[in-house]
Amino acid sequence: MRGTIIKAADWHLGLDTEEGAPEKPLHEVECTTCHAKSGATEGRRLPAETWAIKHTGERPGHWSFRSTATSFWRVTPAPGNPYAEVTP
Ligand SMILES: [Zn+2]
Repeated sequence: MRGTIIKAADWHLGLDTEEGAPEKPLHEVECTTCHAKSGATEGRRLPAETWAIKHTGERPGHWSFRSTATSFWRVTPAPGNPYAEVTP
């Protein structure tokens, strides 16, 4: 059996809009002292920000946080790409 190697093809990288993918970024913060996490909220930073301030208020000395915004990407074949005919 003989395969085909595609050395160059056009692809499109964009936000994942497939069913089930979050439409907006997920925002979450983690305390760098005790590693407690706010939990992720879709599209809104305010709940994570409020959680961080409340966390510091309840635990003096826990001043630093790691903030993450997670978005989901999807690579799809561009027009002319041989994989454009293939349904994943
Ligand atoms: Zn903490």
